Amino acid sequence: MRNLVTGGAGFLGSHLIDRLMKTDQEVICLDNYFTGKKSNIRKWIGNKNFELIRHDVTYPIQLEIDRIWHLACPASPVHYQSNPIKTAKTSFLGTYNMLGLARRVGARILLASTSEVYGDPEIHPQHEEYKGSVNPIGIRSCYDEGKRIAESLCFDYQRMHNTEIRVARIFNTYGPRMVPDDGRVVSNFIVQALSNSPITIYGDGSQTRSFCYVDDLIDGLISLMNSKECGPINIGNPNEFTIKELADIVVNKLNSKSKLTHLPLPQDDPLQRKPFIEKAKTKLNWDPKINLEIGLEKTIDYFKEMI
Ligand code: NAD
Ligand code: UDP
Repeated sequence: MRNLVTGGAGFLGSHLIDRLMKTDQEVICLDNYFTGKKSNIRKWIGNKNFELIRHDVTYPIQLEIDRIWHLACPASPVHYQSNPIKTAKTSFLGTYNMLGLARRVGARILLASTSEVYGDPEIHPQHEEYKGSVNPIGIRSCYDEGKRIAESLCFDYQRMHNTEIRVARIFNTYGPRMVPDDGRVVSNFIVQALSNSPITIYGDGSQTRSFCYVDDLIDGLISLMNSKECGPINIGNPNEFTIKELADIVVNKLNSKSKLTHLPLPQDDPLQRKPFIEKAKTKLNWDPKINLEIGLEKTIDYFKEMI
């Protein structure tokens, strides 16, 4: 198999590449390094099965490949809101270009979509049939609507051209190689607790998220790519925590002197989020294995070494 991983130098992309390389497959990593880092994939440079391309997915590219793992897109609110027009272009044009490539060479393509397609959900937990509640003009819309049109394009390519698509709706994932300053909650809290600085809780901290460890997530993506199921399919860990609970767990784990401080809740911040994963369990035989305690320990070890 020759695999193209867009966004391969990023957090999830680099873990995926590690897994593909370990099974002796060929991998082309494509990235523009907006949020990704060469250090994430440096160990594979020079390997005969590995190629690295600096390229922006908003421009077309011609390659001979069997599978496309389309992950290129900034994922943290801080990064995707820093240039929202570019985020929308990456979501639309990037997915359009990758679907065009998949169609031309007959490759199977997996889209890394997101729980954000459900917006600030009115139903709980969120199952795949729920159509979502997204503010189309808010500060998150470049990403949320970007991923919604990306999904829409996938299904139109399937209907019009029989393109083999796989659509994964990824819920909050954490682990080693998160960027310490990209603003996501797990990395923020760990870095703050390690330096004994205030833990920044947005709002009253009663909003919830359900956190999936990166190794489980990569298992889910690989199972989906290898399955006959096109999706959309939720991949995430249904264990739900309030943000305040997460802060307490991190502070206690690190025996930190950090105090909790409250900052305003950003606009359109979803108040609750938890994946319903029966579809992934039955269709992919996939179930997350790593609980928050264990996953946090691995992530904390990473940040301790890094800092
Ligand atoms: P990340 O920011 O670490 O990785 C994204 C990668 O895409 C980076 O390497 C970045 O440089 C690259 N990229 C961005 N724009 C590009 C462009 N125009 N051309 C080429 N490369 C570009 O984020 P991540 O957490 O690894 O997320 C990967 C994918 O998974 C994203 O599509 C994201 O939307 C999706 N996702 C992630 C999560 C999560 O919790 N991590 C949740 C839902 C969905
Ligand atoms: N959050 C927080 N403090 C931080 C960073 C994030 O309270 O320092 C909150 C944020 O408001 C949101 C949740 O944590 O309710 C998850 O935020 P993140 O940016 O990690 O992911 P997303 O909102 O995209 O799910």
